[in-house]
Amino acid sequence: MPRPIHAFVDTQAIAHNLAVARRSAPGSKVWAVVKANAYGHDIDLVYPALRQADGFALLDLDEAVRVRECGWRGPILLLEGVFAASDLDIVVRHGLTQVIHCDEQLAMVEALRPAAPLPVYLKMNSGMNRVGFRPDAYRAAWQRARACASIGEITLMTHFADADGPIGTSRQLAEFERGADGLAGARSLSNSAATLWHAAARSDWVRPGIMLYGASPSGKAADTAALLRPAMSLRSELIGTQQLQPGDTVGYGSTFVADRPMRIGVVACGYADGYPRVAPTGTPIAVDGVRTRVIGRVSMDMLTVDLTPCPGAGVATPVELWGRHVAIDEVAQACGTVGYELMTALTPRVGRQRE
Ligand code: PLP
Repeated sequence: MPRPIHAFVDTQAIAHNLAVARRSAPGSKVWAVVKANAYGHDIDLVYPALRQADGFALLDLDEAVRVRECGWRGPILLLEGVFAASDLDIVVRHGLTQVIHCDEQLAMVEALRPAAPLPVYLKMNSGMNRVGFRPDAYRAAWQRARACASIGEITLMTHFADADGPIGTSRQLAEFERGADGLAGARSLSNSAATLWHAAARSDWVRPGIMLYGASPSGKAADTAALLRPAMSLRSELIGTQQLQPGDTVGYGSTFVADRPMRIGVVACGYADGYPRVAPTGTPIAVDGVRTRVIGRVSMDMLTVDLTPCPGAGVATPVELWGRHVAIDEVAQACGTVGYELMTALTPRVGRQRE
């Protein structure tokens, strides 16, 4: 019998969240960011809900090909990954737009002789200090790209480091304006946080990712609860119950000790499914729609929950690890991480299916 754990994807929620992104950035075109297999939701599942986007942005060539195979004929942006000269044949063949972030990549594109010039995004490092041309070197990179016969349209691009820090974003925006001053080309700056909360940074193309999946770029569920709808519900079932007496311990390491008689439930979900092993006692979880808490240590295939608020629960009672009753950001916060990580860390043994 298959284990009862599944990630359900609510495609209507994704379509709703895309509409929110559009409304938040009036006049901008929207790249739907679907890297890492649509943040763990499965590109094929989310594609119909995101067809209203103006383009798809992702990292890996094989995911770009998957989007083409879904039937998408519009723009696809390959974000700032690595590429080899041989990849560029596929880029050209599938009509993709490539982010270029360093001199070495420019040289590879200069060596191409494509049938039609390649559209590129020229990435500026405006302060995040990951990849990109520094503001002082940006003009020279742009001039070199402009002079290159194999490059067509050039879009000016940067990426913000702060999810919810207006000061950092404003500083980066000023750096971007300085480095890109007077350069021709459309601009693409905003991730979800800037799309939602930094009107000054919205530009020709925004690039929302996390908000499409209904989680908050700030990591705080309350910041977006009224605006976005969660797309993923991770659900499983109780596969056992235990009656504890005071002094009984639970799970590996005996980290939880009962201080009163209590019933607990065993859920078919563990760290081999991608649920974080670091989830401490107290992490929220819902049993039959009633919020309760994880207790004891998460093991590979199971975790344990306090059934005190749900006395009627028994074997086969549904459990929501995150979704409607428990926001993914709440679980992430309890674990000291972000919703991005939880979504993308689900392992292949968790089937994704449409809600
Ligand atoms: N643009 C780029 C270049 C990115 O790397 C990402 C994601 O990390 C995004 C946009 C989307 O960011 P978010 O998911 O915070 O909206």
